[in-house]
Amino acid sequence: MKRKIMLLIGACIFTVIALATIQGYFIYNTYKLYEREINSSIKKQISRLEDTDEWEDISDTWSLNLKKYAKEYAKGKVTKQNFTTYVNAKKDSLSTATKVYMKKMGQPDDYDIDYSIYLNSITLLNNGKIDTLFKGKILILASDTLKKNKILSATGRSESKDSNNQLTLLIKSERYYGFDELQRTIISKMSGLLIFSVLLMAFVVFLYYMSLKNLITQKRIADIKTDFVNNITHEFQTPLATMDIAIKTLQRKDQQMSPEHYKNTLAMIDRQNERLQKLFRQVREASVTPIANKENIEVTSDEIKDMIEDFKLSKPDVAIKFTSQEEVFTIAMDRFHLNTILINLLDNAVKYGARKIEVDLKITAGNFILSVKDNGKGIPLREQASIFDKFYRVDKGNIHNNKGLGLGLFYIKQLVKTYKGTITVKSEEQKGSLFTITIPV
Ligand code: ADP
Repeated sequence: MKRKIMLLIGACIFTVIALATIQGYFIYNTYKLYEREINSSIKKQISRLEDTDEWEDISDTWSLNLKKYAKEYAKGKVTKQNFTTYVNAKKDSLSTATKVYMKKMGQPDDYDIDYSIYLNSITLLNNGKIDTLFKGKILILASDTLKKNKILSATGRSESKDSNNQLTLLIKSERYYGFDELQRTIISKMSGLLIFSVLLMAFVVFLYYMSLKNLITQKRIADIKTDFVNNITHEFQTPLATMDIAIKTLQRKDQQMSPEHYKNTLAMIDRQNERLQKLFRQVREASVTPIANKENIEVTSDEIKDMIEDFKLSKPDVAIKFTSQEEVFTIAMDRFHLNTILINLLDNAVKYGARKIEVDLKITAGNFILSVKDNGKGIPLREQASIFDKFYRVDKGNIHNNKGLGLGLFYIKQLVKTYKGTITVKSEEQKGSLFTITIPV
């Protein structure tokens, strides 16, 4: 069963990972789709901006300037080395003009892009002789401070001849745009889808979690019930078998029985009967919720001392120390319930190996506090939260170690709860346990 649950958990984890991967893939595809859509809108926006006379003027300014420079160069008036300085000198005024133009032409639905033109090369064909005036990448104009994620929107190639067809000028350029808000815009467009996906995944994980939790709880309950059936069978077996033998002995009329033997046999039947009754009482008590009787009673420390003395009679080799803050406690509780709690705790302490027990009564901050400390075998930390559960036993399956049905502490907790009190345990393995009952007075 444990293997099955582990397999199921593995299958659930695998399914969640597979679902998340598929979802991630779809989200990625949707992102790319939006990205393409935005880029094509931006390209349309750029085409619109580039398709005006005003833009032609700006655009012509730099190409005319370059042509002028090329002519000067052909005449030997300027050198190649001056070219970069020349372009840079014009760059700012062209950029300002572009900026003003872009702002003026902008429409409400436009994306807030930046735009730039780079020159890649200028080649002169002078009487069939090729002369490269410039080759590289130099900025001609930019509408905004340059962003890193530039996207190439178009390449330009213009060829012009001078009036007497001697000089041919070849200009190659590239136009770029950049949109810094691209990622944020796509994410905000996809926000509904993203939120829905995350919620869906969370819901699937939650459903798996709940189902597995339920399965584990069911399995735990089934195990506990099996243990209970085993325990109760074992608990009833011994007294029933003993009584069977005792009754058969009494029935054997042919055999002379000494009065002593007769008395012992009857006492044995009585003891086993008492044990069966006790077991039966435990099961019955645990199946009904106890009813609180909140009439004020006076509990004297002598009364508790007597109770402990009575208990000690059947456990002569256990030392019980009793301390009490007061001589008389006035508490709103059924006397019988208080006795049951104390005796059950003492019973458990002895059953689980205590040789020394300390019982203490006190009143602190309006609470009546009963504590029972023992030096028994203690309870492992991981088990401490469960020992108050119905049918829960630490020695699961191993019914021969200590007898019990796992109902004692459950019943004590039920009782304490009806009086709005609490029961806590502090315990260390091989050192002992301390049970503390707190009941508001
Ligand atoms: P039972 O004693 O019939 O098993 P209880 O409900 O009284 O059932 O106790 C539940 C479990 O708590 C026990 O199986 C035992 O392992 C552990 N336990 C209870 N009291 C003590 C104690 N004083 N010392 C060590 N273990 C204890």
